[in-house]
Amino acid sequence: MVLFERVLIIGVGFMGGSLALALRRKNVADKIYGLDINPDSIRKGLERGAIDEGSVSIGNIPSFDPDLVVLASPVRTFRRIAEDLRGKISSSCIVTDLGSVKGHLVFELEKILGSRYVGGHPIAGTEKSGVEHSLEDLFEGKKAVITPTPRTDPKALEKVKELWQRVGSKVELMDPVLHDWVFGAVSHLPHAVAFALIDALIHMSNGVDLFKYPGAGFRDFTRIAASDPIMWRDIFLENKENVLKAIDVYISSLSNLRELIAEGKEKLLTDYLKEAKTRRLKLEQES
Ligand code: NAD
Repeated sequence: MVLFERVLIIGVGFMGGSLALALRRKNVADKIYGLDINPDSIRKGLERGAIDEGSVSIGNIPSFDPDLVVLASPVRTFRRIAEDLRGKISSSCIVTDLGSVKGHLVFELEKILGSRYVGGHPIAGTEKSGVEHSLEDLFEGKKAVITPTPRTDPKALEKVKELWQRVGSKVELMDPVLHDWVFGAVSHLPHAVAFALIDALIHMSNGVDLFKYPGAGFRDFTRIAASDPIMWRDIFLENKENVLKAIDVYISSLSNLRELIAEGKEKLLTDYLKEAKTRRLKLEQES
């Protein structure tokens, strides 16, 4: 049985497209509409079979009459979209999102949309963007973090939970503020470091094109620096406080490493590297 009759996905990109395909595959939604400021995204979404109908105009929302809206555009577009949605969707329509930042944004969206808004963040993705790269099994076996507040409507929460379970995800509830600290450290910091490493090599090149000699380690480490700049600009600015704190801690770890190398402290340098290796290996056993 379908869970939603008419789902509207705002932002028909990699994530919105992947969710649309998964909802279809698992018979979670009957009709799927797409809304995107880019007509190419709508065209590609239709070609990919992710959406049944699409539009570039928010004015078309009342004719879709969705019972679920999913915000799947870059996070700093959410406030404006939520304002535009108000008055164009029915009072029973649930709104959720796929955004990588929650925290204060969740409380602001709740203020605009009321208790029917349920914050969400699927812990799944790639460095690719655009609906043409979307994957129907992207969410299988992955975590879906949902960030309810004391105000969240319990029925809306249950339906959003069921949606994620039906597309194969393991649901985890998390406080929105805690979410931004956690993902500031485990996701936003690594992306910042990968972008910065590429930037460092661009500036170190000094007549030699260093990018002609990438080893496997360099490729592994910097894969995520190929991610969409607009999406990451929005994430860094929206989770500014946590990202800045995480960068500071990272700078201090790097300075520590620099000092151990500079002073030739063999034993301490080995301990530093051993501790990091042991923790990294444990990660493989845990997952
Ligand atoms: P994407 O670039 O593939 O798609 C974003 C789409 O949003 C594009 O089609 C773009 O035209 C559209 N868009 C931009 N502004 C808009 C607006 N004002 N109104 C309507 N549409 C608009 O990006 P993506 O990777 O699908 O990311 C989408 C969301 O998912 C982001 O909020 C991101 O934080 C979140 N997310 C991404 C990943 C990932 O790995 N890519 C993982 C988890 C969460």
